[in-house]
Amino acid sequence: MAAVEGASYERMDEDRELDQACAMVEESALAHDPNDPMNLLAYYRRVLPFRSLFTWLNQDMAVTRNFMRREFAFTLQNDAYLRYQSFATWEEWKKEVCRLNPSRFEIGPVYTAKPKDRKTLQKANFRPVQRELVFDIDMTDYDEIRTCCSDKHLCRRCWKLIAVAAEVLDMTLREDFGFKHLLWVYSGRRGIHCWVSDPEACALPDEARKALVGWTEVVRGGANQAKKVALGAPSAGFPRALHPSLRRALGHDVLTNTASRAPPLSRGVLQRAFVDVLLRDQDVFREQARWEILLQLLPTSESDAVARLHTRWAAGPRSSVQKWDDVLEAAQRSHDRMRPAWIAALEDIVLQYTYPRIDAEVSKRMNHLLKSPFVMHPSTGRVCVPLELEQILDFDPATGAPTVVQLLEELTHAQATPEKHRGEWEKTI
Ligand SMILES: [Zn+2]
Repeated sequence: MAAVEGASYERMDEDRELDQACAMVEESALAHDPNDPMNLLAYYRRVLPFRSLFTWLNQDMAVTRNFMRREFAFTLQNDAYLRYQSFATWEEWKKEVCRLNPSRFEIGPVYTAKPKDRKTLQKANFRPVQRELVFDIDMTDYDEIRTCCSDKHLCRRCWKLIAVAAEVLDMTLREDFGFKHLLWVYSGRRGIHCWVSDPEACALPDEARKALVGWTEVVRGGANQAKKVALGAPSAGFPRALHPSLRRALGHDVLTNTASRAPPLSRGVLQRAFVDVLLRDQDVFREQARWEILLQLLPTSESDAVARLHTRWAAGPRSSVQKWDDVLEAAQRSHDRMRPAWIAALEDIVLQYTYPRIDAEVSKRMNHLLKSPFVMHPSTGRVCVPLELEQILDFDPATGAPTVVQLLEELTHAQATPEKHRGEWEKTI
């Protein structure tokens, strides 16, 4: 009993120290260094919505094994990594986060037992049993098809590629797999995560996750491979059949000229993105190295037509829209029996430049840890905010997500003009 009381006194001392620390942050001007640990501590104590995250993970108001047996992993300020943390309540979770003040934390699977007790169990009795199905779309995988930025940089223009990927993946998960509970979260720097919380998704074993993510991997192959989409060739001059999911995303009439006033819906989201984002905005085929890849993707049996395109494009600058219209013209002029091969090649090109590029390793295993929504990205200071699908296209990764410093300033401002609110986070915009 004395030990328990001792521990609780210790806790009270810690709480007092934390309160004093937060008061210091409020009294002094906020430190504008996003990595200032005092800002982060104040953010955890006052803004991060632990209770909402708990309800989302737990899927119930009363605490269940979904939360109690859930693994959390903390990256501490000194880069130490603590795995297999677990908590009985959200209050306990919040208290531990505030005590450790990690630079970030991640969410793992639900295990057969509490992760913090794993050392007392036989290995065979401790294994992951459920976990949200998660997806990671990262700008790293888009370098070869964007022209505005490269490496670690991104802007609103290349972010549209991520938005297109999110739109298509959302449609696939809802319409082809029947999932309903999807949460899209800005990853804090260069991408987006999707968490699928339907019970059927959470229960998927690793083999099923691998199969599912394999099904969404339409774009494959490394940097040295020009053709990254190969969905089969037409046989004996007949059009090939595409899976209805791909047909829905791609639409029809791939031979329609870019300036055509044909109903844009018949083109599907990917063809529209190809014309608007890749051709018009990114001008993806302007440089010779990039248009030579386009030529390699045209039907190999049409070498004369491809050679004519090469001569024309090498003679002087033509925009990507003009080049694509040149390709369409070559396809339309081709012999009737060659038409299905042209259509297949052009559809594969549109898919190669627009279909979601998913970091498959994140999705394949139940026990892959993923950064929690609402944590701060250590290198940008930005909060990993959830986004509605409709918001993603207009989201600006440079300014759209608040920084921890901004949120704390908004709270300080709200305190100067007090209103009755239920939680501190509601005072932030
Ligand atoms: Zn960019």
